[in-house]
Amino acid sequence: MQSADENHPLCWFCKKQPATVRYVHPQFNEMVCATCLDRLEVQDTYEQKWAHHILELERQERYDEMLACIDEFLAANRHRDHDKWLARSVARDRTMVLFEAGRYAEAEKAWEAWAQLGFPNVTDRWFNGSVKASILQAFGRHRDALAAFEEAFSHQDPMYASAIPYYLPTLVKFSENAGQPVDEKWRRVAEAGAEDFAVEMPVRDSLGESMRALAEMTQGMPSKAEREWRATHGAGSGGNAP
Ligand SMILES: [Zn+2]
Repeated sequence: MQSADENHPLCWFCKKQPATVRYVHPQFNEMVCATCLDRLEVQDTYEQKWAHHILELERQERYDEMLACIDEFLAANRHRDHDKWLARSVARDRTMVLFEAGRYAEAEKAWEAWAQLGFPNVTDRWFNGSVKASILQAFGRHRDALAAFEEAFSHQDPMYASAIPYYLPTLVKFSENAGQPVDEKWRRVAEAGAEDFAVEMPVRDSLGESMRALAEMTQGMPSKAEREWRATHGAGSGGNAP
């Protein structure tokens, strides 16, 4: 993180432009640049639309209306989508809606459009890979499903080691469905996840069971970044951006 001098503070969100306007949100009250304010407001509005309207359509299984609603929102706000957050979110949500509707061939096409937009971090890629794997499973292609998830999960970044345990049960599930034990090559990845939480890998009868135990054990535990943040800022939650 770049440090900000007192007269010219940097935008809290992009850490690049000078901060000129205030962003107020139930969880945040920070100075940002005008571009980021625009983008953050688009995110808030989209999330509110889901909470107040789209989830209700989902409860009623009105999938076409859900798709129309998110497409309309993108068309109306594309010019404010400065870092493509909205385009990526809409592409993801279209895939999820079609999958939930059981329209797997369309979900696969939507997934391709989503993947083409790229991934700002490895966890987005892992989630994308897990959705691809679920679609392939729906077609009964269990080995391809495992391969799709393993490809995504092979992209690792030490910055996101704390997210590894959460995804391990997904790896175990796709391995089991493909009729094979979890490949030993993932042990080191799981260990990196355990290390981030400062715990030992639990010893179980199989690597898959160890992974499930690790995921359960680290749930709600502070990651390395959270421990470091608390050490310098005292108690309280971390200062993560949305
Ligand atoms: Zn900014």
